[in-house]
Amino acid sequence: MNKLPPFSKTQIEQIIAAGNPTPFHLYLEKPIRENAKRLTKAFAWNDGFREYFAVKATPNPHILKILREEGFGADCSSMPELLLAEKVGITGEGIMFTSNDTPANEFVKAKELGAIINLDDISHIPFLEKAAGIPELICFRYNPGPLREGNTIIGKPEEAKYGLTKPQLFEAYKTMRDKGVKRFGIHTMVASNELNPDYFVATAEMLFDLVAELSAALGITFEFINIGGGIGIPYKPEQQSVDLERVSAGIKAKYEEKITGKGLPPLRLYMENGRMITGPYDYLITRVLHLKHTYRNYVGVDACMANLMRPALYGAYHHETILGKEHAPADHIYDVTGSLCENNDKFAIQRNLPHVEVGDLIAIHDAGAHGYAMGFNYNGKLRSAELLFKEDGTVKKIRRAETVDDYFSTLDFDSL
Ligand SMILES: *Cc1c(COP(=O)(O)O)cnc(C)c1O
Repeated sequence: MNKLPPFSKTQIEQIIAAGNPTPFHLYLEKPIRENAKRLTKAFAWNDGFREYFAVKATPNPHILKILREEGFGADCSSMPELLLAEKVGITGEGIMFTSNDTPANEFVKAKELGAIINLDDISHIPFLEKAAGIPELICFRYNPGPLREGNTIIGKPEEAKYGLTKPQLFEAYKTMRDKGVKRFGIHTMVASNELNPDYFVATAEMLFDLVAELSAALGITFEFINIGGGIGIPYKPEQQSVDLERVSAGIKAKYEEKITGKGLPPLRLYMENGRMITGPYDYLITRVLHLKHTYRNYVGVDACMANLMRPALYGAYHHETILGKEHAPADHIYDVTGSLCENNDKFAIQRNLPHVEVGDLIAIHDAGAHGYAMGFNYNGKLRSAELLFKEDGTVKKIRRAETVDDYFSTLDFDSL
């Protein structure tokens, strides 16, 4: 299958000519909105279903505003993420605060905003109580340990630092009940970039069972389960996106069996996907600066790991299209490299591509989640701009590129 971007080389040249030098991220508003609506519609059977977008995937207020307009909440895990959500008007229970190793001031801010606080450990109960007081609604993150297999991005649950064990959950909810909390939710996040729809059904089922057990043991009522994010996207041309209707139908069947069928009170289903919401709808646009032929053929581009770290960090595959050569035979083999003095700064390794020339534009696919966001300044590399291709066909700069002044802004040259 030929995986192609929905824009032409001419369109990109026009965007560049309008004053947007490469490299830049180019997000597409229309498919982001359509995809958001698809998710909401798939779970319409669940009264109160909500997606809390994982802000860490794409922490840009213009993207968050689009998602807020689509009815999404925000899943935050740090002070700046809480402040971003607040700035775009997502507050109260529109925010899920799922942090770990949390500083006191973040609990204070989350409580002030009325966010749903999701605790990562039993020892955080007294910590939260001292820092901010006990909120009226509380959630705990469950780590099923050896009961579930994780995957490469998030690791095995047993080895993961997140969440409480099952026995700890019983104790934690009991403690909260005894402190007067009346409203409860439960959370887990056991996979990332998972393409198997049944995995999410199994996760929901696991939480339905837990809710039944905890409710019976402690006499408390749960309002929601949050099955986390982690829905994968087809980075590779031969992969397929997760069938949301199948996930939804599977979860609905388990819900009817384990919750309504047993006379338990209704539960809202929450998710906190990042990747599947924005990942496929952004391209990193970069230009070829150099061609180098040594032991391998290298295509040197003007982007680097500062703009997209996933390939270097996890060997992740990101598809690439040489603009204007969409239908040329991919009969050359290249490593596509950035300029960091790190040999892992490669966007593609031994990739079949059409014949590449200096000056070619490359669209690196699926850069919209954990892409720009992971950028860093190592080696003095500056992060690029983010552009939004709006529904009306215009292009808006939603973040300017960093400058050397930004890079120097935390330094004190005056006292040298
Ligand atoms: C990273 C993260 C997410 C989002 O994960 P995706 O793979 O982008 O869907 C959701 N929840 C928590 C707690 C996370 O850490």
